[in-house]
Amino acid sequence: MDYSLKLIKNQGISYLTSPKLNKNHKIFIAFTNKDTGNLGLHVGDLSTSVIKNRQKLCEATKIDLNDLTCAKQTHSDNFTVVKKSDVGRGSISYDVAIDNCDCLITKEAGVPLALFFADCLPLILVALDSREIAVIHAGRKGVKREIATKVLKKLLQSHPTESIRAFIGPHVGDCCYEVDLEQTVRRQLIGLGIPKSNVVSAGICTSCQNKHYFSYRVDNKCGRQAALAIIKK
Ligand SMILES: [Zn+2]
Repeated sequence: MDYSLKLIKNQGISYLTSPKLNKNHKIFIAFTNKDTGNLGLHVGDLSTSVIKNRQKLCEATKIDLNDLTCAKQTHSDNFTVVKKSDVGRGSISYDVAIDNCDCLITKEAGVPLALFFADCLPLILVALDSREIAVIHAGRKGVKREIATKVLKKLLQSHPTESIRAFIGPHVGDCCYEVDLEQTVRRQLIGLGIPKSNVVSAGICTSCQNKHYFSYRVDNKCGRQAALAIIKK
């Protein structure tokens, strides 16, 4: 069994996850789709309906919504190592989400990290040796600013390259966008010594598969899907 992403149906929603990562390392990751509805608090939907959608996701994945830790994403290359006092920021109110940040990192068990997407590339980096996770929002600007390189360098200060696994979620592909986000991110990761086989991709274009995924380029004003990761206790 490899670390590949599988579509799991659970309590009326579905999401991509790596069953092996969950089973062998007790690290749960999920890339959601339109089943869950809009999960972004910043796109103009009523916050009560977004919170209801987040609740649905949290119930299915056995996560406490109050702990869900989120950021105000700005297409930066800024990352935040989540402190105890940060846990739960942005879970039900955008105002208190972690400011000006496009990557959340933790080695604490029980801290769920979530960022939100419609076309930009969701990247989850996982260190298997002594568990640490990073959830990254990499759109055109973030990729150009090399956010993946920056975060990976940080992780490599405490983990060997072989222990890193990278998971690339659904995003707009080069079939529908003039920038090949995935190839660039792969090059950045492999450039720092991550074995090619340690990079796993969903292989899904949000624009081609707009029926199932929010796509900013197709819908313009639209909801957001989530990339979620937690080290389980
Ligand atoms: Zn496409």
